[in-house]
Amino acid sequence: MGARPSLPLTGGCACGAIRYEVTTFPLLLYTCHCTDCQTRSGSAFALNMPVETSGLRFVTGEPKGWHHRSPSGAEVASWFCEVCGTRLYGSRRSRPETVNIRAGTLDDTKWLEPIAHFYGRSAQTWVQPAPGAECHEIGPSDFGPLAAKWRALWPEFFPGSR
Ligand SMILES: [Zn+2]
Ligand SMILES: [Zn+2]
Repeated sequence: MGARPSLPLTGGCACGAIRYEVTTFPLLLYTCHCTDCQTRSGSAFALNMPVETSGLRFVTGEPKGWHHRSPSGAEVASWFCEVCGTRLYGSRRSRPETVNIRAGTLDDTKWLEPIAHFYGRSAQTWVQPAPGAECHEIGPSDFGPLAAKWRALWPEFFPGSR
């Protein structure tokens, strides 16, 4: 592990109309290589960073939501800047306590090292996993063990988890 971030984390969209801060440490960091994430990012994968909804605060601007259903039928929303179109985070109606921030919108991305890779079955063949990261054909059915592993990497933010 290299750089250690400090709270609050700060970030925003490409044009600056939206600025946010995150006051609680992320619960996980993983990539998703599903074809939806490829389409929506216009790239090879999404870098997802779930955080507690109560820890996300908009300093400037308000994102706009695109409400739709996921392939599994869940009611989800993608939140983006209506000026520049940057996707900032996703939310899920059935799980209101967390939001899934697109980690590339953080100001400081140097410390971002995913702990897992999801949807390896549709990953681009040249993508290499991060050292020590779990690789899943789809995703884990239970996020608990993965989240515990993540917390153990960041004892300064999760005291007592070691
Ligand atoms: Zn913008
Ligand atoms: Zn995906």
